[in-house]
Amino acid sequence: MLDRYWKALIELIAVTFLLQTAALAQARYDLLLKGGHIIDPANHVDAVLDVAVSGGKIVAVAKDISAAQAAKVVDLTGLYVTPGLIDIHYHIGHGGAPLNWFTPEARSHEAPLGVPADLALQSGVTTVVDAGTAGADTFLQEKEEAIDTAKVRVLAFLNIVANGMQGGLEQTVDQMDPKRCAETIAKYKDIIVGVKTAHYWTEDPWDPEHTPWAAVDRAEECGKTADVPVMFDFWPRTDRSYADLILKKMRPGDIHTHVFAQQFPILLPGGKLNPIMLEARQRGVIFDVGHGAGSFWFRNAVPAAKQGFIPDSISTDLHTGNYRVLSMAEVISKFLSMGVSLQDLIQRSTVNPAREIKRPELGTLSVGREADIAVFEQQRGNFGYIDCGYAKMTGNLKLVTRMTIRAGKILYDPSGLSMVEWEKARPQYFTTPEFGHSPQSKADDYPRE
Ligand SMILES: [Zn+2]
Repeated sequence: MLDRYWKALIELIAVTFLLQTAALAQARYDLLLKGGHIIDPANHVDAVLDVAVSGGKIVAVAKDISAAQAAKVVDLTGLYVTPGLIDIHYHIGHGGAPLNWFTPEARSHEAPLGVPADLALQSGVTTVVDAGTAGADTFLQEKEEAIDTAKVRVLAFLNIVANGMQGGLEQTVDQMDPKRCAETIAKYKDIIVGVKTAHYWTEDPWDPEHTPWAAVDRAEECGKTADVPVMFDFWPRTDRSYADLILKKMRPGDIHTHVFAQQFPILLPGGKLNPIMLEARQRGVIFDVGHGAGSFWFRNAVPAAKQGFIPDSISTDLHTGNYRVLSMAEVISKFLSMGVSLQDLIQRSTVNPAREIKRPELGTLSVGREADIAVFEQQRGNFGYIDCGYAKMTGNLKLVTRMTIRAGKILYDPSGLSMVEWEKARPQYFTTPEFGHSPQSKADDYPRE
């Protein structure tokens, strides 16, 4: 009698297990994001829809996809779902900082410039573009130490200075070799999307080596040869005006980053937007935020935004000297609080930067693309925002990142939107794994690393 009871019980457990396994094997989707408000400017979508993911790709975006078809379902009611953001001004790796930068004999005593690439995941960013931290001489080092190991997608602008930033050679014009720059871009064209010039000769008198446009002209020469855009960090001076940069020197598709920095005459003395900004836009010049530690002033940003001048792309310029800017979500929140719509800002953080770096396959939720997805909560309240001139602006909107998915993997989910309550976790979660043996005490098998 007892035997039959046990036999029946074992059969029941076996059948239940098989049914469960079959159900999972039959699940059409690995992941179903249900009920979120989708903002996908590349596809002109702004509506409550479900998103299904399988094999790391987006496989369906539609109304009311059945939860029974998915192995994992995440309820995102009340939240915004967008393509993973693209931060086109970010810094990773050493730059030109010598590997022995901390020793007495080092050429330069500056610490490495870059922050970890994966820090960007905390802000819904799935693609960062290094803005010229490395040049032709230091790019391989950056690739080995920071690009190849990142979970976030990393692309790069190559500094026209072969050593890159932070190595004490940024003012050495001989370092700016357009030929070597273009050769390096050709060699790594799957990663390098453009050229960067920055910080060139901002104060000292001109001399035979340091002519006003040396860095700009050499960066442009490389950009033309390699057929990629140039990103400009610039300081106007006598004999080197901002108007000449954006109306004469820059080609259509070139990017002026740090547009709301203190040194640019983007407003006329009476406060009206300088017409050169619109003239440059007409020519195809791109304007980027590149907030940074010293490149964002409300006195420029707020009047410009009020007059309808919003930078084409939003970016952070995160680096080790600059934790004041915090994140893409924080920079977007500043513009939200200036009255720019969330839809508009998501466009300027996804499809626009993707176009600027000529990677139109990024920054969309199109079916068939890699499942790079961000989930945000828009909070209302009283928030303070700061700029690089130590002034503040109050606002009543804030964008908070709730989840970041890269190629289908849930890499950031700090409040556990995709996780079960710990008391309800499967038995495996409550077991102590033997040393070196699986299975580990995990509540699910969804890829999260
Ligand atoms: Zn920068």
